[in-house]
Amino acid sequence: MCGIAGIYSHKPAAPELYESIVHLQHRGTDAAGIMTYDKRMHKEKGLGLARDIFTKDNIPLLTGNIGISHNRYPTHGGFGHGEVQPVWTSVPYGIAIAHNGQITNYDELVEEVTKTEKRYLNTTSDTEVILHIFAEELNKNGNPQTSEEFFDVLCEVVSTLFKKVRGAYSITALIVGKGLVVFRDPRGIRPLVRGERVNENKWPSKGGTDYIFASENTMFYSMGYESKGNVLPGELIYVDNDGKLFSKRLVKEEFNPCIFEYVYFARPDAILNDVGVYRSRLRMGQNLAYAWKKKYPDITPDIVIPAPSTANTSALSFAHEIGVRYSEGLYKNHFIGRTFIMPGQEERKRSVKHKLVPQETEIRGKKVLIVDDSIVRGNTSREIVRMVKDFGAKEIYFVSACPPLKFPCYYGVSLPTREELIAGNKSVDSIKEILGVDILMYQEIDDLVEAVTRIGDHHIDTPCMACLDGHYVVNGRKVHELVHED
Ligand code: SF4
Repeated sequence: MCGIAGIYSHKPAAPELYESIVHLQHRGTDAAGIMTYDKRMHKEKGLGLARDIFTKDNIPLLTGNIGISHNRYPTHGGFGHGEVQPVWTSVPYGIAIAHNGQITNYDELVEEVTKTEKRYLNTTSDTEVILHIFAEELNKNGNPQTSEEFFDVLCEVVSTLFKKVRGAYSITALIVGKGLVVFRDPRGIRPLVRGERVNENKWPSKGGTDYIFASENTMFYSMGYESKGNVLPGELIYVDNDGKLFSKRLVKEEFNPCIFEYVYFARPDAILNDVGVYRSRLRMGQNLAYAWKKKYPDITPDIVIPAPSTANTSALSFAHEIGVRYSEGLYKNHFIGRTFIMPGQEERKRSVKHKLVPQETEIRGKKVLIVDDSIVRGNTSREIVRMVKDFGAKEIYFVSACPPLKFPCYYGVSLPTREELIAGNKSVDSIKEILGVDILMYQEIDDLVEAVTRIGDHHIDTPCMACLDGHYVVNGRKVHELVHED
């Protein structure tokens, strides 16, 4: 999972690209980068958090009113500085791209890029492969002069790319002398939203409008952008040097956005695919509560505690629905990163204890119901249960807003292998024993889908939920057909 942004503005783009990265920091803490251009490209990248990479000295050096940015959370490729995005090539024009997602036919495309097109790959990142496919197709398509001609060429190029590249990809790109380009894979698996802002002084843009495209709209309000919905699945958008916007939906397939964005990844204030993340999490808690009352009509906990902080919203509506007090019985230290996206098992285990501190007054002698957003490997959940036991809980019930995660993700979320996923090959009863709880209840898949799609003027056909049901939406293939490709 990563965060991307692309900006066309009447003022220098870099400060706002930095602000975008900060607002998307939860989507990837491994590395970050910004590239802009005026007459030539300017870049600054590094490992770690945005606030440690970008400074008041290096941001002004990123000149130009068009640029792209990236927060990295690796799902393909290594952890080194060379893998940090945006990635770029000088032929043709000078192109840089930032990518959120993961491609599933990487090996096949590497063959094409290196053997047929004789291009050199500097990294093992799938983003670099997308860059070279895009650059090669653009190079083959003549020398368009006007923006209209260039957009026609882009339509050809991205249509070909859609046929070649399988998997999930939301892309922001800059092309020196030409402008900003964005597109989203035909299934719309990873999010990409768009915003607009009226220019203050109409310079240098002749269009009168600034544009932003980003993984989430979480930064729009603070930067004065108005939300204009989504980049559609299979849509290409081009903003030329003068701020003129061209767009076309090149292919129309089923719309299958990732359901796990709503469960865990996206910030609660984001609106993705015309569905509010916060509201969807409230509905997840509500549906869980309906299921609890049906399944355990005679069991009422004394308090409902979220495993902070993604589960706070679902726990709140769950508690409200069953009429039990909501309690922040686990205090979270906000200065420690998200455990799920930390690379090593040991780091993850260690950080749970540092991150969460139980509040004895809320727990001792009580029947405690813990709501978590999901159970991935089970380590964090087990650790939380152990801590709540240590602090004197009489009974512990554990409910997950997400159904059992049984299959890995090949579309840009680093869900581990089936062996590492606790629900990959274990029954709910044995997971209950491993966690050491009195009751374990998971959300049903249908209830989760209902929670995400119940309300909103959205056009979601079926969300991707391959990690839950093993149905991989790209080309309708099943898990066993995909596992050898990655
Ligand atoms: Fe999202 Fe799961 Fe689909 Fe991956 S497999 S895109 S995590 S729903």
